[in-house]
This record gives sequence, structure tokens and C-alpha cells, in this order.
Amino acid sequence: MEVLCHPNPVLKQHAAEIDVSTDADLRSLVRTMAEAMYEHAGVGLAAPQIGVAKRVIVFDVDERLSALCNPVIVERSGETLVDEEGCLSVPGISVPIERSEWVVCNGVTLDGKEVTLRADDFLARVLQHEIDHLDGVLILDRLQLDDRKEAVKAYNALMEAERTD
Ligand SMILES: [Zn+2]
Repeated sequence: MEVLCHPNPVLKQHAAEIDVSTDADLRSLVRTMAEAMYEHAGVGLAAPQIGVAKRVIVFDVDERLSALCNPVIVERSGETLVDEEGCLSVPGISVPIERSEWVVCNGVTLDGKEVTLRADDFLARVLQHEIDHLDGVLILDRLQLDDRKEAVKAYNALMEAERTD
């Protein structure tokens, strides 16, 4: 199962909100996303990463698969933490990213139920990362200019090496 990689233009799009009650493809979309996430040993995946510009994310940080539609961060801590982050769409790269320590996130489940999720630590980081994807934001975009240049250079070198392999 292919996960789109930077610089695929779908990854830069602002994904569209979905209507959970009428979206007939939602369950199969989520199944495909979960398969791709597990196949690539990821902890989260956003629909644009498999080429679908819809506001749907899946994640599994505690051996439980969750899916959330139209997720919105409604509250976040002022305190932030910096930690290394990777991304299935920027393979081979790991960069320090500053994120809020905790977030409160609203969203809709596959059953159409509105939920509020309070997440700390790693789950908070994963949610912020995946919701960034829905706004066309990658970890590379979160770096300061010099760090970004360096990361892009390393990434391009990796991609080049893969092509010539
Ligand atoms: Zn990612």
C-alpha cells in the first residue's frame, strides 16, 4: 500500500470536511488508512497521505485503533515540548518539532458521534501531527528556515539514493 511522499501536491492541500452520515466511502477509507499505517509501522495517518483530501485521521498509540473525522484542536497548553518526529510521507527523516504538551480535540466518530478528546504527551503530539496533514502542513514546514534547508537536503539525497538503487 502506497503512502504519498513529499513533494506530492496532495500533501499540500487543505483537506475538505466530510459529512460522516452521508459519506458512503468512509469505512473503506478508514480501513485502507489503517492498513497503510500498520504496514508502514506508523502510529498515525491522515487521509491525504493516501491521496484522499478529506479530514479523516487514524491513530494507534496504545494498541487501539482510533479514527476521527473533522478533528479540530479547540484548546492547547501554552507549555510546549520539543521531540524528534518522523513522518511516513517524509521517510528517513527525523527532526525536532515543538508541540503543545496537551490538546483538547473535537471530532466525529465513524458512527457520527461528536466526541471531545483530551490528549497528553505522545498522543497529543500524534494528533497535532495528523491534524497538520489535513491543513497541508508537514514536519518540514514546522522547521526554522536553516533547519528546513538541511532536512530537505538530507531528504532529497535519500530519495535520490533510492531512485538509483
Ligand atoms: Zn506525517
